[in-house]
Amino acid sequence: MLPVVALVGRPNVGKSTLFNVLTRTRDALVHDLPGVTRDRHYGVCRLAAAPFVVVDTGGLVDHAEGIESQTARQAGFAIDEADVVLLTVDARDGLLPTDRAILDRLRRASKPMLLIVNKVDGLDEHGALAEFAALGVASALPVSAAHGRGVTPLLVALEALLPKAEIDPLAVLPDEGIRVAIVGRPNAGKSTLVNRLLGEERVIASDVPGTTRDSIRIALERDGKRYTLIDTAGIRRRARIEDAVEKFSVIKALQSVDAAHVTVLMLDAREGVADQDTALIGHVLESGRALVIAVNKWDGMDKYQREQCVASLSRKLEFATWARQVFISALHGSGIGELMKAVNRAYASANHKFTSSELTRALEAAYQGYQPPLVRGHSPKLKYAHPGGSNPPTIIIHGSRTKHIAEGYRRYLENFFRKRYRLEGTPIRIEFRDSE
Ligand code: GDP
Ligand code: GDP
Repeated sequence: MLPVVALVGRPNVGKSTLFNVLTRTRDALVHDLPGVTRDRHYGVCRLAAAPFVVVDTGGLVDHAEGIESQTARQAGFAIDEADVVLLTVDARDGLLPTDRAILDRLRRASKPMLLIVNKVDGLDEHGALAEFAALGVASALPVSAAHGRGVTPLLVALEALLPKAEIDPLAVLPDEGIRVAIVGRPNAGKSTLVNRLLGEERVIASDVPGTTRDSIRIALERDGKRYTLIDTAGIRRRARIEDAVEKFSVIKALQSVDAAHVTVLMLDAREGVADQDTALIGHVLESGRALVIAVNKWDGMDKYQREQCVASLSRKLEFATWARQVFISALHGSGIGELMKAVNRAYASANHKFTSSELTRALEAAYQGYQPPLVRGHSPKLKYAHPGGSNPPTIIIHGSRTKHIAEGYRRYLENFFRKRYRLEGTPIRIEFRDSE
């Protein structure tokens, strides 16, 4: 399970600025894709050796009308869920009573914590830190979130406090089969789907409690294939969980996506695609995981509604056309076979093994078909390709002036390889190297 880091502090100290720095993806492409939404409160930081979830609790209390409001309570939940809290203060404002009040609250929760003294740009760092020494927090770090300064020491300090990941998330454990995360907004039909899958099939080992939190993995065998459904704890106990906690299904969803081989994103056909859904697909893309989209509650929709739904999906999910959309009724059981076939296919595609000679031939064919546009009279040359790993399938292309290759051409190559190898349900990563 990805560890969780919560950003806490007064308004305007720079929490959301720091959140953006931490969750900015190395693969800038993903967030520039039209249609991908960013979740402003939850993200995954991939800048350190091991990824972790970042929660901006400031975002959560934005509309709070008092400390007892629902949103303030949610920030409380975020702190409870966190492995480490980053208490952020403003070096320009100095130490204020509210900083102390927040610290008292954190101390009661007795969470590992770092004090982030932000906005030190243009200030004397030692002086800035000294002012906050009165708080008595051992580890204070000077940071300028706006200028991206102090971020590396912050990551190093965090790594020391975060629980160590026990296993490679993509290692296949014996008997586990394909790990499938079923995620989606409340009421999309996740529990109905899980119950249908379990009800229909022989359950070979139910409710294996995970090592951390209440992650539960359910083993499932279907048509002779093994699967492990991930983190369905929240799903099964939902009836007893308060509404506010439901919000934290976002954290669970991020953790589940990371732990799974294939993510099934469930949508309610009547509700369509919301920002939360496209944000989640963005995370799937960033983590390079396989994805299947299950459009649920297909029963009882008339022809007109179905057409509207399909049109809206193709518009909103244009950036993820590689993910198969399967229309199902978890309640009545229709489309479930097709859904599991799509899961198998996505898993197989994500683990596709290329050979260098095949890839180079494919590259030549692609290059013959359409060459990268000239840059100042020279065209980038593509020479040969070799595999760079799976999950997601990665293709490394050697050539010259490859930094001039435009995004459009990269996408052309991606589509070309996707068609040629019939890869479905997985992102494909293409990396260019200049071999001068
Ligand atoms: P939040 O309310 O805690 O999320 O704070 P924001 O991230 O929205 O930042 C509040 C203001 O402080 C914005 O105008 C930021 O541009 C500014 N800010 C954030 N980080 C820094 C920093 O490192 N240095 C300076 N000088 N300004 C910053
Ligand atoms: P979850 O919050 O994602 O776990 O959603 P649930 O599985 O609890 O389902 C929410 C509601 O949608 C329940 O009332 C279900 O009976 C209903 N539901 C789930 N799947 C379907 C479906 O395929 N068709 C219809 N008509 N209703 C469904």
